[in-house]
Amino acid sequence: MPGEFDLIRRHFTRPAPAGMLGVGDDCALLMPTAEATAVSTDLLVEGRHFFADVDPRALGHKSLAVNLSDLAAMGARPTAFVLGLALPRVDDAWLSAFAGGMFALADAHGCALVGGDTTRGGAGVTVSVTIFGAVPAEAALRRSGARPGDDVWVSGALGDADLALRLLAGEPDLPVADRAAALAATRRALEWPEPRVALGLALRGVASAAIDVSDGLLQDLGHVLAASGCGARLCADDVPLSPALAALPPAWRRRCALGGGDAYELCFTAAPDARARVAEAAARAGVPATRIGAVEPGAGLRVVDRGGAALPDLPAGFDHFRPGTT
Ligand code: ADP
Ligand code: MG
Repeated sequence: MPGEFDLIRRHFTRPAPAGMLGVGDDCALLMPTAEATAVSTDLLVEGRHFFADVDPRALGHKSLAVNLSDLAAMGARPTAFVLGLALPRVDDAWLSAFAGGMFALADAHGCALVGGDTTRGGAGVTVSVTIFGAVPAEAALRRSGARPGDDVWVSGALGDADLALRLLAGEPDLPVADRAAALAATRRALEWPEPRVALGLALRGVASAAIDVSDGLLQDLGHVLAASGCGARLCADDVPLSPALAALPPAWRRRCALGGGDAYELCFTAAPDARARVAEAAARAGVPATRIGAVEPGAGLRVVDRGGAALPDLPAGFDHFRPGTT
């Protein structure tokens, strides 16, 4: 069985890009630039964020993807990341697949692994990634920039990851006749999210505020509105759904698309006179963007149907510490 340092050398050591000191010293060195450094960290805990039997390649991908998604939401360009790993045991095949999934995504985004920490942990695997990106401070897409009159937009389609999670958890009252087919159609969204980095970059100077949808559209848009001191009207019928979701009854569709987490799409606001530039940004990034509502003066989020009627029983987003959330 390999020791700690052998494990790091074999699975997580690669030459650092020019201008950086990477794995192997007490600290990594990243050279300063004129831009601001965007920093974000995410923790993934077995049994809470992923199932114990998850494909390790997918876990490696997702551990980095959720961090890249935070950079995307700020309009930042990824530069480097560090990886904290707590492992109950050393399983070389598992680690090699995990590292493979992570490095494939890292390479696709030019984001280098420059350090980390590895330890024996408790019963399950814990993964912590801290990511660094670059963005001119004045160009960063903050949550606080939405203004009344702005459009509300979302990228991609929502709800697949949440439906996949409900299927994997075997939720009994889910009205899905062919669960295997539904899982086959949605699992990729849950396990292999595609962070919208190119869209975030293209939205610099176009979007007024942005957030990535990690805990549910309503909750995450609520954060933008609270930070911006505004309210909004959101048309639930305009929220883009995948074909797998379209087969569900309306209440379930809303539960998955408006309340479901793990989507890693971008929700953003932009002035109405920027509509053509939003469309260009989306086309350049190769991801659809859909207008789903409008920012209003005041506070709070009004969710309506296409006829303008308020919708009842809206789903709450995900909160690890809310009573009743397991
Ligand atoms: P220290 O004890 O000085 O914190 P470590 O012995 O924990 O350093 O780690 C040795 C080197 O390996 C360091 O450069 C560290 O950043 C790197 N490292 C440790 N774990 C990982 C990992 N999971 N991924 C990438 N690099 C790692
Ligand atoms: Mg250490």
